Amino acid sequence: MHVHRAASVQQAATMMATLGPGARLLAGGTDILIQLRRGALACEHLIDIGRIAGLDGIAIDGEAVQIGALTRHRTIERHAGFAGSMQALIEASRVVGGWQVRNMATIGGNVANASPAADLVPVLLALDATVELAGPAEARHLPLSQFLLGPRRTAARRDEVLTAFRFTPPTGRHATAFLKAGRRKAMEISIVNVAALLEVDDAGRCRGARLALGAVGPVAFRATDAEACLQNRMPSDEAFEEAGRAAAAASNPIDDVRASAAYRRHLVGRLTVRALRLCRDRLQEAT
Ligand SMILES: Cc1cc2nc3c(=O)[nH]c(=O)nc-3n(C[C@H](O)[C@H](O)[C@H](O)COP(=O)(O)OP(=O)(O)OC[C@H]3O[C@@H](n4cnc5c(N)ncnc54)[C@H](O)[C@@H]3O)c2cc1C
Repeated sequence: MHVHRAASVQQAATMMATLGPGARLLAGGTDILIQLRRGALACEHLIDIGRIAGLDGIAIDGEAVQIGALTRHRTIERHAGFAGSMQALIEASRVVGGWQVRNMATIGGNVANASPAADLVPVLLALDATVELAGPAEARHLPLSQFLLGPRRTAARRDEVLTAFRFTPPTGRHATAFLKAGRRKAMEISIVNVAALLEVDDAGRCRGARLALGAVGPVAFRATDAEACLQNRMPSDEAFEEAGRAAAAASNPIDDVRASAAYRRHLVGRLTVRALRLCRDRLQEAT
């Protein structure tokens, strides 16, 4: 195994192209090194992108939020700019492993690894994030939903590096929430995770909702039928229960060692209702 350090995105892209299919990018290493150690992945060359300048950091203005791909979970969970209306980003980041993992692990690695259970993915879907991919050619931007193709499969070409996530900060009266269920409370891969964004108008009626579900399909996805249940309705428990049932119906989980499909589906319904209630509580606190 050879480890190469890339000084720039262009250099990393060139190395990926010239070293061929046996080469992989290394960011924080908290996923890939474990896969290599377990023998789940074969790789001859690791290209360390962890020290490329300008790929970490968070920039927020009224029009856009940008999170660099190398931004650590620990940075996100402590970022004051996400407290309040983008709380879900903090909630998802602070449940990724323990703090030792969060000090190393990056948001780019969490998404590019394309695990159906990755905790940041549902939040980024609920925020309507796009990914920026840079390589030898001009950078391109894709909605996150088009970037994730299946377990461990993304739309990134071999010589492309995921460089950043971007989304428009939600405007108006809105709140977000993220909840996950695991077999224990910490250091646990999600058996279900749910992110919610709820926006209400001046009368308190639901103007829009975004619900994203993880670990209940090959990729995390938006539960659009559940979102439609809430449109133009007061954010009542009854409406939330309906959305919970629609989210459970939209999920397509598998049985595995962590949980049965039936239990996962049940959890989707309950976590959706709880996430929506959290959003409602947060909206009430903010007024
Ligand atoms: C003990 C432990 C607990 C964990 N708990 C959780 C948890 O609760 N929730 C959770 O979601 N995850 C968890 N993880 C998984 C992991 O920590 C996260 O997914 C992390 O965010 C991965 O980031 P990384 O920088 O370490 O990625 P790496 O391991 O460096 O890379 C992961 C994959 O993404 C690719 N990659 C990385 N960066 C880029 C990039 N910029 N462009 C293109 N491809 C790239 C790599 O080639 C590799 O295939 C846990 C891991 C451990 C070891």
